[in-house]
Amino acid sequence: VTDLPHVGFLRGATLAGTIEQLQRRGAVPYAGGTDLLVELSERRERSAAIRLLVDIKQIPEARGIEQVNGWLRVGALSTASDLMYSDPVRRHAPALAEAAALTAAPALRRRGTLGGNLCTPHPAGDVATALLALDASVEIAGVAGSRLARVAEILGAGHGPRTDEVILAARVYEGERSAFEKFGPRLTFCRAIVAAAVCRRGQAIAVALAGVAPHPIRARHAERALMEGTPLQAALLHDCVPADDEAASSTYRLRLAVALLQRCVKRIDSKGLVHG
Ligand SMILES: Cc1cc2nc3c(=O)[nH]c(=O)nc-3n(C[C@H](O)[C@H](O)[C@H](O)COP(=O)(O)OP(=O)(O)OC[C@H]3O[C@@H](n4cnc5c(N)ncnc54)[C@H](O)[C@@H]3O)c2cc1C
Repeated sequence: VTDLPHVGFLRGATLAGTIEQLQRRGAVPYAGGTDLLVELSERRERSAAIRLLVDIKQIPEARGIEQVNGWLRVGALSTASDLMYSDPVRRHAPALAEAAALTAAPALRRRGTLGGNLCTPHPAGDVATALLALDASVEIAGVAGSRLARVAEILGAGHGPRTDEVILAARVYEGERSAFEKFGPRLTFCRAIVAAAVCRRGQAIAVALAGVAPHPIRARHAERALMEGTPLQAALLHDCVPADDEAASSTYRLRLAVALLQRCVKRIDSKGLVHG
């Protein structure tokens, strides 16, 4: 951040201390910095208001991966590397491990965190997409105390936690069968053109897609089509209107979504192995 002299940097050692620092004008949480530093250096719109980065990496409540009463509690500071190599994540939430393994490239995976992926409004957040299919709940701490939100409620510009709040963890159910698939212009350093995550929950099936809307979405019509065996592409037309841009046409994105969803279902039903 050396060429941004107007931006200060502080390290929060405790949760209470960090939340206090975040009340200052222009303060934002800083985790791995892989999105935030790019945003600042490219001087994107929101970055003009940022005056203080509050490093949240020391907060104990946002660390670790543990099993609690039928839940897997995944600390928001878990990096993509932590997720892809975690035995409980691979066992209980394979889609999350797979999404992490296909995120960016090794150096970025060692820094980029789960919390940061949820807070960056982007069409193709891999970890966020997996958490959406897993129907994760998110623990958020602020001056008024802690609250729980569904991941679907906080994705997208203007819906995330306030900048004076900190995501502490995501909670997912244990023991569900899930899978994640991604297609991009190349295997590393790239956001997906389209990504898909599927989770089987008893007789029900949950579907999340990235790259077909301004942020990852639950595709409820696709879920019904998969359960009823009706045409998937027609159902997807009710879930999203993918962008036509230089990366791909809208039709191509829809076809990709169908192919990736079918791959996920096939792997779940044949207990496919985790990528990476
Ligand atoms: C070259 C490149 C390739 C990339 N490829 C991919 C990819 O393939 N897939 C993908 O999904 N992403 C990709 N990314 C994006 C990025 O690496 C991820 O989104 C990463 O998970 C962000 O986490 P972070 O800890 O670095 O977030 P930061 O940059 O530290 O923060 C991002 C935002 O989240 C907020 N924030 C961070 N943590 C918290 C928290 N716990 N509570 C509240 N707010 C918080 C910050 O204030 C900021 O607004 C790529 C980035 C780059 C630069």
